[in-house]
This record gives sequence, structure tokens and C-alpha cells, in this order.
Amino acid sequence: MKRVAVLSVHTSPLEQPGTGDAGGMNVYIVQTATRMAALGVEVEIFTRATASGLAPVVEMAPGIKVRHVVAGPFEGLGKEELPGQLCAFTAGVLRAEARHEPGYYDAIHSHYWLSGQVGWLARERWGVPLVHTAHTLAKVKNAALADGDAPEPRMRVIGEEQVVEEADRLVANTDVEAAELVKLYDAAPEKVLTIPPGVDLERFTPGDRGAARAALGLRPDQVALAFVGRIQPLKAPDVLLRAAAELLVRDPSLRSRLVVLVVGGPSGSGLEQPRALQLLAEELGIGDVVRFLPPLAGDALAGLYRAADVVAVPSYNESFGLVALEAQACGTPVVAAAVGGLPVAVRHGVSGCLVNGHDPAEWARVLGHVALDPGRREELAGNAVAHARRFSWERTTDTLLAAYSDARNAFQREVHR
Ligand code: UDP
Repeated sequence: MKRVAVLSVHTSPLEQPGTGDAGGMNVYIVQTATRMAALGVEVEIFTRATASGLAPVVEMAPGIKVRHVVAGPFEGLGKEELPGQLCAFTAGVLRAEARHEPGYYDAIHSHYWLSGQVGWLARERWGVPLVHTAHTLAKVKNAALADGDAPEPRMRVIGEEQVVEEADRLVANTDVEAAELVKLYDAAPEKVLTIPPGVDLERFTPGDRGAARAALGLRPDQVALAFVGRIQPLKAPDVLLRAAAELLVRDPSLRSRLVVLVVGGPSGSGLEQPRALQLLAEELGIGDVVRFLPPLAGDALAGLYRAADVVAVPSYNESFGLVALEAQACGTPVVAAAVGGLPVAVRHGVSGCLVNGHDPAEWARVLGHVALDPGRREELAGNAVAHARRFSWERTTDTLLAAYSDARNAFQREVHR
């Protein structure tokens, strides 16, 4: 495996995750590309140009190029408008490849269905296999919508079905997602591979918890509950706020000690009301308890995880939940909704707790059970580190590279038949 074309139409690996369309998928692409480059596999990532000043090609790191493809206006184009730009994007991808000798790329890895559509055509033209990761699936998402959230359109469902049919390999984060691909999308089971994502175990370490808390101005006696991620109804940060309000009703003396940290920026349907969560905090009478922080990067993010007593992941749907792994790697127990990949990311009763449903009273009970009982918290925190260490981007990358090679061999056998 010499060189891989990675397709990431709707979001760039150069963007800061945790706001807008940038999230776990960006982290996945950057982390696996970094490891592939370290192993001598060149990675070229195609993404849509979203500003006129962007260089056509940016060297993100040695061995990793980001190619900005012009497809539609640079700014002001929503994700829902991107299907109309797929022809232009594909033309840009094919044009870039045409400048090289045949066989320049050994495999294509597309991320999210929009990229899968582009990869489908590139596969046909280049004669190399297409490996696809969906990241989220419309049929799964539509079955677990947040209140008032619009369902994903039929266009996406059809587009996903086509990609499932055309891709040589489908990468699922968990066995549950693999089963969904087979059951809901009729994927051929032999094409589907479960490859768990990883966590950066050098960045996300238990570190100095006291220093991390001091850096955020947290007193030793304060109890900090944190939400980290894109702020949108599907991620349900409102459930954490409602649960915090409930904790205060149960024990008003907590008011001087409770802090809720919300880290991230508006995204998806959350962009329609970017201040909805601040307004909710006021409405619930906990405006003084909740602290909103912009998206954090690198060590600041690791510090935030370390400082928190508990990280909550109340999502309605989560194909994996990298935040849960990162928090645990920092030695912080996670209370997560028992949906999607979260039961894999969190070991219930061992490294954190899973909650069925989104009833704030139940969330308050479980959050309180972990955050307000230091003995219990310490026990979970120790196990959380051990649990997170079972995942690593090195392992994810090795398995992905094996999948590319395997797909390539099968593809060539097919061609020569
Ligand atoms: N993230 C970040 N800064 C923030 C909030 C989130 O870098 O302020 C990153 C976080 O570290 C994680 C990713 O965004 O790696 C979110 O991934 P996750 O799987 O939890 O959710 P997704 O965004 O894929 O829905």
C-alpha cells in the first residue's frame, strides 16, 4: 500500500472539531492519516474548499496532503445543499488524479455518504477498491430523533443504499453498526468489517487532576459535570442541564458546589437557535451553574476532561462516541446513553454508567450516584483508564490498512477473472 485517497467532502481535517460539521469524523481521519503516514503510506485527503484563500494543496504533515476541491460557492453552503455539488466535487477529484500516472492511488476510503457517492465513481475510473465508513446512518438516526428534530431526507437514505451496494468494504465502528448495515441496508455480510476507532493515548492521560481543576478555576470541593461536543439536539446537552437542575431540587445545598461545563459550538439543527442552551439554563434557573466554553483543542481539552468529575454523553444516537473514550483515558468516568456504540465505549458499572432513555430524573440519579460519591467515582476512574487503553488509533490504522490490502487483492482477482 503506497498511497490512499481519502474523501471527506463535507468537512475538512484542518477544521477544529467540536463545532459546525467538524466532529469525530475529522478526528478519525486525522488520527488514522497520521499513523498511516508514519508507516510510510501517503495519504491525500480531498475536501471541499470553503474559503477563497485556501491553497489548492496543503501539506498537513509529512506524508499527508489536503486537497481543496472547488465545488460550489466557498461560503454559505449548508451540508444539506452539498448533494447538488457532488458532480463538481467528483470532477475535481478525477482531475487531480489525472495529473498522475495510472495507479497513483492504491485504495479509496470515503467518509460519510456524500463522499461515498464520489468514491463510487472514482473506484470505477481508477480501478481501485472503495472502502467506506458511514459514520452515521440515516435510517438509524431517523429511528431515534431528538424532539422536534427533522428526519434525514429520503435522498440520503437512497444515497447510502447505493454506496453500501457499490463499496468493496464497509467499515463499521461496532458490531451493532455492522448488523445495522446488513439488516437495514442489505449489505453483503462479507463486505462488512468491524474496526473500532481509537483514542490518542499520548494526549489523553490521567495527568495532574488538581492542576487541571485549578486551571479552570474549580475549587477542590466543587462538583463538575461536563458535556463535550457539537451542540445540537441529537447530542442532547439539554438532558445534562435538566438533570443538573433536578440534582439541585433534590439537594439545594449543592448549588454552591455544582458546576456544569459545556464545551463546543453549535452544529446541525442546533445552528437554527445557537443560544437555545443558554436560554434553557436561564429558564431552569441554573444560569449561574452552567459555564459555556468554546471548542477546545489539544492539551486544553485533555485538561477539561481531567478536571471534570463526570463527563456526560446523553446523545439520542452515537455511532461510537470518541468523547467517551477520551474522557475515560483521562481518568474520568462517563455517564452515557445506552445507544449506538456507547455501550462499547463505556463499560457499564465498570468504567462509567449507561442510562436507558433521557429522563432527566433518571440522569440526575445516575450522575449523582457517580459524581457525589467520591469512593464510587475513584473506583470507576481507575477502571476507565484501563478500559480506554483497550482502544488505540495504531490498532485502528493497522486494521484499516489490512482491509485496504485485502480489498485490493479481491478487486484485482475480480478484474483478472
Ligand atoms: N472535540 C474537540 N473539541 C471540542 C469538542 C469536541 O476537539 O471542544 C472533538 C473530541 O475530542 C472528539 C470529537 O470532537 O474527538 C467528537 O467526536 P464524537 O465521536 O464524540 O462525536 P461526533 O462529533 O462524531 O458526533
